[in-house]
Amino acid sequence: MVKNETKNNVIVVTKNDGKSVIDLNLQDKVYLMIDINNITNLKKLIKKIESITKEYDKDKFSLLIKSNGNKKLENDVMECINAALCKTKKEKIEYIYDTVCNYLDEEFKNNNYCDFKDDVCKAKRKCKDKKVTMGCCHEIKSLLKGKLKECPLLKDKKCSTKCITCKLFTCDAIEKKFKIKDIPLIDIYFNPIQKFIIKTSYFTKREVIIDKLLKW
Ligand code: SF4
Ligand code: SF4
Repeated sequence: MVKNETKNNVIVVTKNDGKSVIDLNLQDKVYLMIDINNITNLKKLIKKIESITKEYDKDKFSLLIKSNGNKKLENDVMECINAALCKTKKEKIEYIYDTVCNYLDEEFKNNNYCDFKDDVCKAKRKCKDKKVTMGCCHEIKSLLKGKLKECPLLKDKKCSTKCITCKLFTCDAIEKKFKIKDIPLIDIYFNPIQKFIIKTSYFTKREVIIDKLLKW
C-alpha cells in the first residue's frame, strides 16, 4: 500500500485491494473511502463528496482515495476535494485560482511552448518587420494614440502579477489550447459568469480578477 497525503486530510491509497467504494467509520474520526478507478463523471463524484462532507466537522474528516495509479486523475480529484473542503468562498476561489495558475506555469515551463530567444517568442520570430519582444505582453493597445505598447504589468521582462487569462492563452503558432472544460477545478466550481471573467480578463492583476470572481 502506498500513501500520499495532501492538505485537508486527503490520503491517496494506491495498490489497495479493498473492495469498498464508500465506507463511513463513525468513531472519533470520519473516514470516507472513494474508489476513483472507474470514474466516468468527476463533476458528479465531487458534488457527492461535497454533500457528504457538509455533514461532518472538517477537522475530524479524512478521505481515502483508492486509485490504480493514474496520477493525473489522482491530482484532479485531490485538487477538487481540497477546493470542496475550503472553509470560505474567498479561500476556495483563491485556492482554485492559484492552483490553476501554477498548473499553467508548469505546463509552459515544461513544454517551452513560446520558445523565447533573445526576448522574441516563436510567433513573433515569424514576423517580417521589426521583431516584437516579450510576446503577447507587447500587444496591449493605447486607446489614446492607437499604438501597441507593453503591458504596464510587465516589470523587468516578467509579469508582475498572476493573470490567469493571459496564462490560458496560446496564439496560432502553438497547437496546444487550454480549454476551461478540460480544467476540472474551473469547470466544476465556477459558474458561467465566473468562467466568462476567467476567459476575458487579459492584462489584469490577480487581485482584480479575484475580486470580480468573488462578486458572483
Ligand atoms: S502565445 Fe504566441 S504570441 Fe504569445 S508569447 Fe507565446 S508564442 Fe508569443
Ligand atoms: S498581465 Fe498579461 S500581458 Fe500583462 S505582463 Fe502579465 S502576462 Fe503579460
